[in-house]
Amino acid sequence: MCKEKFYITTAIAYASQKPHFGNTYEVIMTDCIARYKRQQGYDVFFMTGTDEHGQKVENLAAQAGISPKEYVDRVSGQIKEVWDLMGASYDHFIRTTDEDHEKAVQHIFKKLYDQGDIYKGEYEGWYCTPDEAFFTDTQVTDGKCPDCGRPVQRAKEEAYFFKMSKYADRLIKHIEENPAFIEPESRRKEMLNNFLYAGLQDLCVSRTSFKWGVPVSFDDKHVIYVWVDSDILVHANKTSGR
Ligand SMILES: [Zn+2]
Repeated sequence: MCKEKFYITTAIAYASQKPHFGNTYEVIMTDCIARYKRQQGYDVFFMTGTDEHGQKVENLAAQAGISPKEYVDRVSGQIKEVWDLMGASYDHFIRTTDEDHEKAVQHIFKKLYDQGDIYKGEYEGWYCTPDEAFFTDTQVTDGKCPDCGRPVQRAKEEAYFFKMSKYADRLIKHIEENPAFIEPESRRKEMLNNFLYAGLQDLCVSRTSFKWGVPVSFDDKHVIYVWVDSDILVHANKTSGR
């Protein structure tokens, strides 16, 4: 008999520092749901893991005098140790430095480029190094980052962009027609009002200012932006190689 599949994942913890209570809370909640679904007879796949690329990790490793890979091996190991101590019943612990993950990310990025959803352009804005984020003029006041309050710098770089604007109408239609697609209701409204109705901007999806990331396979001056790398993995692993 073919059991119905149930997939659940935590957000994957960023391997910049030791895990904190918030990460632990999340893995326990996810574990509860996974165990409950198994008892109900579902074929459950529970994933968790660590998100390991980005400038923040590169900087922390340099400060510690070790390579970024050595740094994340250490932190990811500490995180996994805590999850195991808690008895989390995950089926797979993914690391974004895993070879199969990196290959999948490169493959998807290339496919998006080939079909015209990713194009090369130039990004300019206010850059906050600790947050690895660009901000617009309206978001920045007195030269300070709106997220962390530290100073931002004017920066420009060649970058690849994802044509997110192209998908706005389709996303709005889907979310409006399927009220359960995003829950709770407050988050659904936030997504619609603050992002989709306001108009989606194309998203900058590569970086050239540091090296610690998955290289763009056809242009290795660029690494794939860490948020794309870590968000693609959830889908890539959900749909392949079970
Ligand atoms: Zn900041």
